Amino acid sequence: MDTFFEPNNLLGQFSSSISQDEWLAGIDLYRENRISKVDRFEHLICGTIHTIEGKCEVRIKLHPSGRMVQWVECTCARNRKKGIYCSHIAALFFHIHQERDDFADTSGSSLPQISRADDSNTQSMVHGLFQQGRGNITKIDFRGSQLVVYFEVKAGQISQIELDVDKQPAFLESLASIERKLLPTASQDMKVLDDSSSQGIYFYLDDEQKLVGRKVFAIKRGPSKGISTEIENFHEKLSMHAGELREDGWFQLFPAEALGSWVGQKYFAIPKVGYFPINDSFSAWSELASTFKVGDQNAIELISNQFQTYSKNGKIFLHKSLANLQIVDDLVLSEIKVLQENDGWFYLDPHYTTNGKSVGMLDLLNRYAKSKTPFLKSDKMWIRVPDLMLNGKWSVDSSKKCLKVSNLELIKLKQSLGNPERITGKELLLRKLKESTEFNTPSNLPCIAHTQLKLREYQKVGYEWLWWLYDKGLHGLLADDMGLGKTHQAMAVMSAIQSQQKTSGPMFLCICPTTVLDHWMDKIESFAPNLKAIKYYGPKREQLVRNFPQSNTIVTTYGVLLRDLALLERYEWQVVILDEAHFVKNNKTATYRAACGLKGRLRLCLSGTPMENRLSELKNIFDFIVPDYLGTDREFNKNFVNPIEGQKNADKELELRRLINPLKMRRTKEQVLNDLPEKVEDTRHCWLSNEQVALYKEVIASQAGPLLDSLKKDQTPIPYLHVFTVLQLLKQICNHPALIRKTTNWRDGESGKFELFRSLLSEALESNHKIVIYSQYLQMIEIIQNYLKELKVGHVVLTGKSQKRGDIVKKFQTDPEVKVFVGSLLAGGLGIDLTAASVVIHYDRWWNASKENQATDRVHRIGQKNFTQVIKLVSRGTLEEKIDRMIAEKASLFNRFLERDEEAFKNLSREDLINLLQ
Ligand SMILES: [Zn+2]
Repeated sequence: MDTFFEPNNLLGQFSSSISQDEWLAGIDLYRENRISKVDRFEHLICGTIHTIEGKCEVRIKLHPSGRMVQWVECTCARNRKKGIYCSHIAALFFHIHQERDDFADTSGSSLPQISRADDSNTQSMVHGLFQQGRGNITKIDFRGSQLVVYFEVKAGQISQIELDVDKQPAFLESLASIERKLLPTASQDMKVLDDSSSQGIYFYLDDEQKLVGRKVFAIKRGPSKGISTEIENFHEKLSMHAGELREDGWFQLFPAEALGSWVGQKYFAIPKVGYFPINDSFSAWSELASTFKVGDQNAIELISNQFQTYSKNGKIFLHKSLANLQIVDDLVLSEIKVLQENDGWFYLDPHYTTNGKSVGMLDLLNRYAKSKTPFLKSDKMWIRVPDLMLNGKWSVDSSKKCLKVSNLELIKLKQSLGNPERITGKELLLRKLKESTEFNTPSNLPCIAHTQLKLREYQKVGYEWLWWLYDKGLHGLLADDMGLGKTHQAMAVMSAIQSQQKTSGPMFLCICPTTVLDHWMDKIESFAPNLKAIKYYGPKREQLVRNFPQSNTIVTTYGVLLRDLALLERYEWQVVILDEAHFVKNNKTATYRAACGLKGRLRLCLSGTPMENRLSELKNIFDFIVPDYLGTDREFNKNFVNPIEGQKNADKELELRRLINPLKMRRTKEQVLNDLPEKVEDTRHCWLSNEQVALYKEVIASQAGPLLDSLKKDQTPIPYLHVFTVLQLLKQICNHPALIRKTTNWRDGESGKFELFRSLLSEALESNHKIVIYSQYLQMIEIIQNYLKELKVGHVVLTGKSQKRGDIVKKFQTDPEVKVFVGSLLAGGLGIDLTAASVVIHYDRWWNASKENQATDRVHRIGQKNFTQVIKLVSRGTLEEKIDRMIAEKASLFNRFLERDEEAFKNLSREDLINLLQ
């Protein structure tokens, strides 16, 4: 048997391996002197046990280190055949323990140690020892919390048994009164006292006014129990909270940690008092730390709910300072005194009111700065620090007598106050405050005559607003409807700033999606060349950095921002523009974080999407333009998202609008209709994808080249049909490589134009506009149709093959779910009415401008008051650009041929065709 025992645990280990019957029988054998010839040879201990059946030999082999038992064996059948630890082995162990401690170091081992959990075992063991007359108790004493029972096993041989707190009550109950007099005085009256104790948690405030919970045992205190606080050394620890409790009656509290090992699994004990059952229905109680601090936020909640969070863990005891505590959760900003204005800063003394009592914000801030707890104690009140104070870094003037705020903070305070009449101060100060917090035509608006910008009335208002933001150190979101010229307004404010700046070098950073990069460059070139823009894009962009000092404006993409953040965040930009700001609506993205790293005096977002319906996106955009302004996500959800989206709380919606409106401007087409022309045409440029470039070059080389050669020979007749075919092929490549592959899936190949189309479509759909899309290729129409199906966007298609044209048109006109009309120019261009739409996209170009115009006019009916945005898509560096120019130059020529493209085409000269094919 390779069993190892630690010598100093020799008997303890062994007694737990042996059955109780064998153990008791072993003790009997020892008591009856049935052991002889006990001897030791090196590491082997032998002994002979004489039993009624005969004698057997027991051998105990110690490990050579002398510290462990290696094996034990007995010659009896029970051990040899069945491997049972027999009473003979027990007897020898017992003998060594009692009489031969020179054989093995058994000090510190106690006898017998029975598994602690098994109380009945102990009890019967005790009964076995005492009631069967196997020993006489000579002494009972406490060693710490252990009750030590000394007994005489046989004459002159004293053994001892240790009982922990859980076993003590049963043992003491079992003692005959005669032995009770042996009990030490401390335990003479000890018995189990039911129904007078409880586990609980005691809450009090520590020196730093933090809420502390402490696990306690509570003893009902009454004259009959005579509990004194003088017990042992508990006095200091225990008396401090006694008698200061809210619980009915008097309880004496004992911190669980102070009781230490007097706490068992079933009982805890107070010497001289008694044993108290531990209530196991409070199972969560035992898992709590003996002392714990409750976090600030949780403390308030805990007090608000009367500590019920912990009531399942036992009785709750409160220090008197916590009883009758009142939580003031509804401080209302009631007055703002304006004391001074200096250098754009305002010095204020705002006041809150609760229950008719006024509390200064400064007082709260000063105290909060020290405590950092979200509640502040004041007499019987705990004042919850208002969210407004927690969100934001409020600075107190060095005199500590007033709050020093920026314009942005001023707006926030004003919105929180609600009623502007509660702002008090000298008239001049109030006027200045109004100028800084409410947009009005600024008196110092710079002239922008040095640009080519011709702003419409509403655009002028937008420009003035942007200047006001810049001038007052504020930031904004310009969310005008698609087509209303957000770019123009942005260029206006940049030009205004540029006209005032004496220094050179880049001041403006425009970040936009790749698809509108060229659009920005085109607009700046046409309307504000003074902005000296650099298109910072492409693999060789690094070389452009050296041109930065000569430029004003850097136009780049979100992709480049992400890669070149280290460069771009080095500048202190006058204006940082995020165009199509919905690209940064998700604050989890790296792009979002990169954008937040940029420093700009005016941070401006442009977006055509009305974001009131997507509060979290709005929040993210505001977190970029004015960090902290709307609080943390958690606060924002609690204050606005849940009440507005969940409970349709109109007050909260109004509150949010008041907070946001000074920093946001949005006009819809309908709102500015009188200011708009009936139709705005825009050509939007894109680039060919690599795949398109390869296809395009191949057609030029294999087909256009030979044609050019023959065209250049003057005498040959012009092969119009052949040229037309080649040009058609090139136009198809510009549209989408899928047209060459003869498929109708937009994923078959990459198209720069289709990417631009997708972003325009999504912008228009987001703004809830109906859209008409024209293409001259049926296959392209199918590709678009498949894409719309994939997006689950309601649409209709009208081509030459369509039946029931009237129904299709009616559906588009009347069904609010049908957002898109896709048609071929010939079929959709005449005799129908598409006035429900306000955006027209010509996916590809027609030679004949008046044909295009006719199609456009389906949407825009003369005399009808609506606004139509017409977008024509043109691929850069391709014949589409040349066609675009030619259409403009030869409009009158083409317009005579209304019906077929080929006919118009035949009016082109040899030079025109050569130009197109080159
Ligand atoms: Zn045996």
